[in-house]
Amino acid sequence: MVRAIVGACWGDEGKGKITDMLGETSDIIVRFQGGSNAGHTIINDYGKFALHLLPSGVFYNHTTSIIGNGVALNIPYLVKEVNDIVSKGVPKPKILVSNRAQILMPYHILFDEYEEERLGKKSFGSTKSGIAPFYSDKYAKIGFQVSELFDDDVLKEKVERICEMKNVLLEHMYHKPKIDPQELLATLREYRDMVEPYACDTSAFLHQAIKEGKNILLEGQLGSLKDPDFGIYPMVTSSSTLAAYGAIGAGIPPYEIKEIITVVKAYSSAVGAGEFVSEIFGDEADELRRRGGDGGEFGATTGRPRRMGWFDCVASRYGCKIQGATQVALTVLDVLGYLDEIPVCVGYEINGKVRKDFPTTVELAKAKPVYEVLPGWKSEIRGIKKYEDLPENCRKYIEFIEKELEVPVTMVSNGPERHEIIYRNNK
Ligand code: GDP
Repeated sequence: MVRAIVGACWGDEGKGKITDMLGETSDIIVRFQGGSNAGHTIINDYGKFALHLLPSGVFYNHTTSIIGNGVALNIPYLVKEVNDIVSKGVPKPKILVSNRAQILMPYHILFDEYEEERLGKKSFGSTKSGIAPFYSDKYAKIGFQVSELFDDDVLKEKVERICEMKNVLLEHMYHKPKIDPQELLATLREYRDMVEPYACDTSAFLHQAIKEGKNILLEGQLGSLKDPDFGIYPMVTSSSTLAAYGAIGAGIPPYEIKEIITVVKAYSSAVGAGEFVSEIFGDEADELRRRGGDGGEFGATTGRPRRMGWFDCVASRYGCKIQGATQVALTVLDVLGYLDEIPVCVGYEINGKVRKDFPTTVELAKAKPVYEVLPGWKSEIRGIKKYEDLPENCRKYIEFIEKELEVPVTMVSNGPERHEIIYRNNK
């Protein structure tokens, strides 16, 4: 069976932990989009890890981890992440990399930096991992596929051609040093040697695995609101964050995806610029940020403080719908135990009208949050294993959210560790 695990909002919903948990019952875990631009935090018996490119399944002996064709493959980063986890005592994971994945080139990172610099105050708040230049090149058909590394003639010709083009921009638009084609070719030959042990036709591997009835988990990065089509464009990422794209980014039939587990956090947070209707500021935000996640809400990749807000029913319901959520994992609920009352955004006021649907970015910019205030439970819920043992107000909070989301909340996460999860039999 194929399951997908994806985020409903801006990312950082705690997907890493849920993926790590679901990894236990998976044979294969696949990254299908994005690159090393966002991170998952995973805490397990080996320690605490921030993974950026590797699928979360790398900690298990029984799983194969796949970097699918939809991913922006940063080859030295991949090798570094593998070495990092192995140096911390994790057994060397079984990893396969799609020979159709495209390669994140050193100049993608430079172009990302230069463009943010050029935009100045109007920058996107990019993590400068080269993701936007990478996907631009992929769709402009000037990207490098892993398979091309293994044909030196193709590679040489292409390097010359691409350098010519990139150097015009570097020289005249950004006024930066040009790329030396010889140097780039040498780098790509090093990349070839690094990736060779992993490269294969992962789509064929997955088709076979489906035939054999294996359990496959598609692991999404970021969340619905960062999707280039359905998110808060243009403050989005450059590859689709939706479960549907999992079929393409992994190379499997769309109808094989049977479960779409959508991760929703009990409050909101976002990194980077972009619309965020239920955002809070000042002391209220500082306190939630400090108490949030595991040791505070700071970016796993950049360490940047995350923007904070109350739970947003409008955005989360839309996020679930656009993912095609079949069930929801509600995370980080334990953090809210300090609050007397918890505001929840239940509507957007736009031009004097209250709306429940999530609008396009132009309208979203005018939206003001409409809150309903729910009573807090004022206690520590970590350690609780059964749904019935949660305080009444806490269950009411969950059930309120569930009704708003219109999707069953089947898992409630009440702590950062793997076993801190409450399952519900309500699907
Ligand atoms: P992801 O990218 O969606 O995996 O999210 P991140 O890993 O960036 O952020 C989630 C943070 O919350 C991490 O620090 C997790 O360890 C932590 N976390 C996940 N679930 C829970 C939970 O239920 N309670 C608490 N307190 N922290 C959690």
